[in-house]
Amino acid sequence: MSQEWKDAIRAEEQLHAVCPFCHTLNFATANLGLWPYGEAGIAQVKKGHTKVQEHPDKDQLEVGELEGKKVVFGCECGRLEMFEAWIWNSRYEIVDYITLRAAAEIAENKALEEKAGIAKARLAVVKGRGEKS
Ligand SMILES: [Zn+2]
Repeated sequence: MSQEWKDAIRAEEQLHAVCPFCHTLNFATANLGLWPYGEAGIAQVKKGHTKVQEHPDKDQLEVGELEGKKVVFGCECGRLEMFEAWIWNSRYEIVDYITLRAAAEIAENKALEEKAGIAKARLAVVKGRGEKS
């Protein structure tokens, strides 16, 4: 995975996070001093989780955000890395899609603005009639 992908989804460091794709609790243990209660803190975080993945080589995990959900780099499911590969491999189609979709949205907004302008003009005419009589 690339640094650009990490930057795009605003990856930040966290000691632990649950992967929203596979529901695995991921936690970093290279520096136990970072955990407020050391091993006891880790045990507390692991409570109730059936799927856990320890990252003994990392001081902290890199956790980004997609659709408002925290996403974990390095989770064994690999979904986050698959998304990046899919986006990059489909980039031309995605750029075309965004271009076409944005043009359609702009056209729709312009049509709405025109309708609103016509309605506003009619209202002014109606009000004008009311003021005269
Ligand atoms: Zn996962």
